[in-house]
Amino acid sequence: MVKRHDLTALVLIAFTAASAMAQEPGPGPFPPPKTEPPIVTPGKTSADPPSDAIVLFNGKDLSHWRGKDAGAAKWNMRESYVEVAPGTGDITTSDKFGDVQLHIEWATPAVPKGEGQERGNSGVFLMDRYEVQVLDSYDNKTYFHGQAGAVYKQHAPLVNASRKPGEWQTYDIVFHAPRFDDQGKVIDRARVTVLHNGVLIQNNVEIYGNTYHDRPALYIAHPPEEPLHLQDHGNTVRYRNIWIRRL
Ligand code: MG
Repeated sequence: MVKRHDLTALVLIAFTAASAMAQEPGPGPFPPPKTEPPIVTPGKTSADPPSDAIVLFNGKDLSHWRGKDAGAAKWNMRESYVEVAPGTGDITTSDKFGDVQLHIEWATPAVPKGEGQERGNSGVFLMDRYEVQVLDSYDNKTYFHGQAGAVYKQHAPLVNASRKPGEWQTYDIVFHAPRFDDQGKVIDRARVTVLHNGVLIQNNVEIYGNTYHDRPALYIAHPPEEPLHLQDHGNTVRYRNIWIRRL
């Protein structure tokens, strides 16, 4: 006769063996990595640029940016921020980037005007084509994959962490650039993680391709590094404290 505790032991052994078979071993503790992680001095707060960041905008000038047709960026410089000058077009960095960590601060107009997509719309375009939406989503309904923090028309944010119109908000973005083969086929899709005001809203989601508002996303091969651009969507959205780290 099999006693109950014997049976329990048998089941336990069988379960342990099965789970051991299902697991792939990870790398062992040896050999240890040969290169020491570089020393980086963090900013005073997590909003301040660490020592290895490229400061794209420090509130003083637009020297890292250009406007339409590679001309001067025409957005309005204010005391410590830059504001979209509607109709002047997007502004684009002179530098190009692939995998990055990006910090950017923005504010939509303090007096809200318009509804849905017309209220405080702008956007952070990674590699010139993958948009993380900027929008006044405080008490302003729109389609969910078009609200603040959405990967536009692809992924709604996990939560709505929006502050009130006129208040400064932050995005901390970790972006993994897509990889293409020699034929231009995507072999590793872009991925993005976004924290909005410190709250995780995109958790390493896959990007399906270029941002379009009227048709499905689609990958079109591009170089491994491309500029970052900020969208002029006709609303006077403000930006400040923009820094980026190549990964
Ligand atoms: Mg937009």
